[in-house]
Amino acid sequence: MPYLHAPEDLGEVVGDGPSYRVDQLRDWLYRTPVLHADDMTNLPKELRASLADRLWPFSVEIEQSADAGTTRKWLFRAPDGAAIEAVLMGYPRRATLCISSQAGCALACTFCATGQFGFERHLEPGEVVAQVAYAQAFLRQVGMPGVPDHVTNIVFMGMGEPLANYNRVREAIRRMIEVMGISARSITVSTVGIVPGIKRLSDEPWPVGLAVSLHAADDELRTSLVPINKRYPIADLEAAAWEYFEKKGRRLSIEWTMMDGVNDTLDQADKLASIARRLRAHVNLIALNPTPLSDERASSQLHIEEFAGALKSRGVNVTVRGTRGRDIDAACGQLRLMSSSPPSE
Ligand code: SAH
Repeated sequence: MPYLHAPEDLGEVVGDGPSYRVDQLRDWLYRTPVLHADDMTNLPKELRASLADRLWPFSVEIEQSADAGTTRKWLFRAPDGAAIEAVLMGYPRRATLCISSQAGCALACTFCATGQFGFERHLEPGEVVAQVAYAQAFLRQVGMPGVPDHVTNIVFMGMGEPLANYNRVREAIRRMIEVMGISARSITVSTVGIVPGIKRLSDEPWPVGLAVSLHAADDELRTSLVPINKRYPIADLEAAAWEYFEKKGRRLSIEWTMMDGVNDTLDQADKLASIARRLRAHVNLIALNPTPLSDERASSQLHIEEFAGALKSRGVNVTVRGTRGRDIDAACGQLRLMSSSPPSE
């Protein structure tokens, strides 16, 4: 499975043959990805045939589309049974791919479906990069109506905590930037707040974006929603995020999932505004998407607008995020629902 080899190390995949074969294959894998090995037109037939059923490190178990064909979710299945989910969201001038870094997640945030099902395993760098290559191939060869023909933004907001799988995620990002030619600025790592991981990322040479999933602005509430807050409390998280901002010069995002009566109070808005102002961060508000093991409900749309207004009046930049893919369980925090109970069609 060629994506499981380092891109610099494709010799053994190609076998005997002229040395330029390796470069040709690398181009097909990373520069102009294709869905099927048979589309690798300048490779000899035998090589294409030998790659045919092992091009991707996973099979496509479910492919679903929503929002008039502009949202697509893939449930990939690795040979060992691990589920890997990716969601592509198309817009007139953007195609944002949401990718997974782990199968499952160990951090157990109460309101997130992935966390509710526990941790399966880390994804390999090649399994992370192959999600990007697959979406590139899809956009190039199949396409979405009115959407660019390539991925323009990559967000680590699928399953898993990227900074809890640091070395593999780092290598995946390196391959995206150095081999696929994707700009670091179009990649965003979203973290629940693994402070040592944020520090390590700030020492990497690439200006990738950082999103912090905050959800609560005091330690008591945050620990009840995001258990890892006990280990990395808000003050430490804020210090690490500030250091990242200073080193990279990139505006931080704060993600805030709106839960009715939980974190949508004026008191929280007030405290969140202080943190966001200190960090000069942009706040994204997301209505909670329902998950099976949590009774929390989303704040009403009206209330979300009020909360956004309260932040704005305190000088904070804020966006209320639209929800894509809710009816195919592809929205934030819902990935993994399908894989645990395959759809009956
Ligand atoms: N572990 C990383 C990346 C995965 S979560 C992180 O926590 O940032 C990606 C985003 O989805 C996060 O902002 C997360 O808080 C949000 N999210 C999780 N569950 C959600 C739900 N049920 N409804 C809406 N957003 C949710």
